[in-house]
Amino acid sequence: MTNIATHRIRVGRFDCLVVKDGNPSADPLSAFMADAPDALEGTEIEMCGGLLVVDAPDACVVVDSGNGPHRGERRFAAEPALAAEGIAPESVDTILLTHGDFDHIGGLVREDGAFAYPNARYVLHRQLWDFWHDESAIDEYLPAIKSLLHKLLGPLLPAVVARGTILDDEQDVLSGVRAIPALGHRAGHTLYRFESEGETLLHIGDAAVHPVFLEYPGKLNVRHDSEPETARDARRMISARAAAEGARIVGTHFRLPGIGRLTKIAEDRYRWAPVAG
Ligand SMILES: [Zn+2]
Repeated sequence: MTNIATHRIRVGRFDCLVVKDGNPSADPLSAFMADAPDALEGTEIEMCGGLLVVDAPDACVVVDSGNGPHRGERRFAAEPALAAEGIAPESVDTILLTHGDFDHIGGLVREDGAFAYPNARYVLHRQLWDFWHDESAIDEYLPAIKSLLHKLLGPLLPAVVARGTILDDEQDVLSGVRAIPALGHRAGHTLYRFESEGETLLHIGDAAVHPVFLEYPGKLNVRHDSEPETARDARRMISARAAAEGARIVGTHFRLPGIGRLTKIAEDRYRWAPVAG
C-alpha cells in the first residue's frame, strides 16, 4: 500500500502542494558520490518520489506525475492526494515535465489508458521530445521498462502535438513560471521557477536527488546522471542562482518537507537550511 504524504507552502499568490509517496529508499552516499568529503561520512541518500501541484490564480499546474499506477510495488497514484485537497484532475491545465524518467511521467496516463489530466497541455524540452522518437536510445537507456514507456507514449505523443509547448531555451511558460533547462541528468532535463509577489520557489526535478549535491555542486553523481559532467555544471548554476536569489528549492526526490534555501560559504560550497514552508 502506498502511504501518501503532502506538504503545503505558499509562494506569493501560488498555493503549492508537495505530494510524496511513502516508500523511500536509502543508500550510502558513496554509491552516488565517489569522492565524498570526510564531513559527509555516514550520510545516507534517502529518496522518495512524487509531484508538485501549484494552484495559481489563473492556472492549475502539476510538475511531473510520479510513477502512476503502472509499476507494481513502486506504483503511486496522485489521485487520492489531489482529491483530499479538492483538486479535480480535470482542473489541471498545465503539466510541466522536468524529464522523461518513468517515475516522473508514469502518472500522466491511468491504468485504463485514459489521461490522468485530460485537459492539460504539456511543457517539455526538445531533447526529451527527440528522445521519445529515438528507438535505439530508448532501447539502450530504459530496456527494463520499454514496454511500459511505449504504452504511455502511444497516447501521450499525439496529445503533446495537439497541446504542447516544446522548449529550446529558458523561457516563461506561464505568468510567473519560467522554464530553465538544466541538462545532464536525462534528455532535456528542465527546472521550473515559480515567482510571485517577490517570493521564489525553484523546482529542480532530479538535478540533485538530495540536498547534499547542491551543497557540494562540484561533485559528480555517478549513479544517476546520464552525462555527469553536464549535470554537475547544471548544479553549479542552480546553487549559484538559488543562493543569489534566496529562492526556496524543492526537489522531486527530497524527503518531506524537502524545502530549503542555500547560502554560499566558499567556492563550490553551499549550506542547505531546511525551511518549514
Ligand atoms: Zn526521478
